[in-house]
Amino acid sequence: MTRPVYPWQAALWQTLAGRTQYAHAYLLHGPLGIGKRALAERLMARLLCRSPVGLDACGQCKACLLLAAGTHPDNFILEPEEADKAIKVDQVRELVSFVVQTAQLGGRKVVLVEPAEAMNLNAANALLKSLEEPSGDTVLLLVSHQPSRLLPTVKSRCVQQACPLPSEADSLVWLAQALPESSAEERRELLSLAAGSPLAAVSLQGQGVREQRAQVVEGVKKLLKQQQAPSQLAEGWNSVPLLLLFDWFCDWSQLILRYQLTKDEEGLGLGDMRKVVQYLADKSAQAKVLAVQDWLLAQRQKVLGKANLNRVLLLEALLVQWASLPGQG
Ligand SMILES: [Zn+2]
Repeated sequence: MTRPVYPWQAALWQTLAGRTQYAHAYLLHGPLGIGKRALAERLMARLLCRSPVGLDACGQCKACLLLAAGTHPDNFILEPEEADKAIKVDQVRELVSFVVQTAQLGGRKVVLVEPAEAMNLNAANALLKSLEEPSGDTVLLLVSHQPSRLLPTVKSRCVQQACPLPSEADSLVWLAQALPESSAEERRELLSLAAGSPLAAVSLQGQGVREQRAQVVEGVKKLLKQQQAPSQLAEGWNSVPLLLLFDWFCDWSQLILRYQLTKDEEGLGLGDMRKVVQYLADKSAQAKVLAVQDWLLAQRQKVLGKANLNRVLLLEALLVQWASLPGQG
C-alpha cells in the first residue's frame, strides 16, 4: 500500500521519513498541486506502521491494514466536510478530545489537517490547545497551500517544512508519462497555465482548460476588433471558471505592464496572447493599465473569498474596461 511518491519528493521524503525522532507537529507548506497531501498520507502510514520496511510502511501489519480500511483508531483526519468549505470548530473539538486519549493500539497517534488554512479563527484557536499541550506520542501533520493565512501562534508551534515546486524539467518528464496522449507543446502550455504545478496541470487538462483558454483568447481578440460586445462574450464564457478568467486577465495586465517597462519580447507570456499583449502595451496608457489591474486584483480577491457575485455583470464590467484600454483618454 505504498503510496506513489512523486519523483520530485524523493529528497523531501528522505528528510521526513528518515528521522529517528519526531516533533509534535509539522507544517508541510507549498503551492497547490504538487502532492503535499499524498506526502503527508504516506508519512502518516509510515508513522503508524508497526514494522516499517526501510523508510516505508510495511503495508501488512495490523496498523497498516486498519489504516488501509479506514478504521485505524489512532488516526484522525481533519478536513472540511465539503470541498472548499471551512473546517468547523466542532470538528476541531473532536480532534482535541482524540489527542488527549491514550493510543488504542499502543503506538503513536497521527493527525492530518488539510488544508490547515480552512480553519477559521475559532477552529484555529481550538487547535492551539492540542499544539500547546502535547499528549503522549502524537504527531500532527498540517498541510497548507496558503501558510500566510495561518495564525502565527499555530505556525510557530510546528516544525515548518517547505515543499517546493518541482523544476520545469522534472515536471515535464513526469507529465509526459501522466499525459501520454498530449504533445510536448501542449504539456508545456498546461504546466504554464497551472503556474508550474504538475498535478494541477493534469487536472486542468481534465477540465478542458486548453479549449476554454482558446475560446477566451479568441473572444478577447474579437472584443478588441469590436466584432463582439462585452455582454455577448460574458454570456458565452459560462463554462469557464471565474477564478481562471481572473487569473488570466491579471496575468495579461501584468505582462502588458512588464512589456511597457522593459520592451522585452521574451516576457510576453504564452504564444496565444503575445501579439495582443504587445499591441495593448503599445496602445494603452500605463496609468489606465494600472487602474484596470488594481480593479482586477480586487475582484479576484472577492472571487477567491466566494463572495456572492453576479458573474455575467462582473465579466461584462471587466470586458468594458479591457476594450477601453487602447486609445486616448
Ligand atoms: Zn505496517
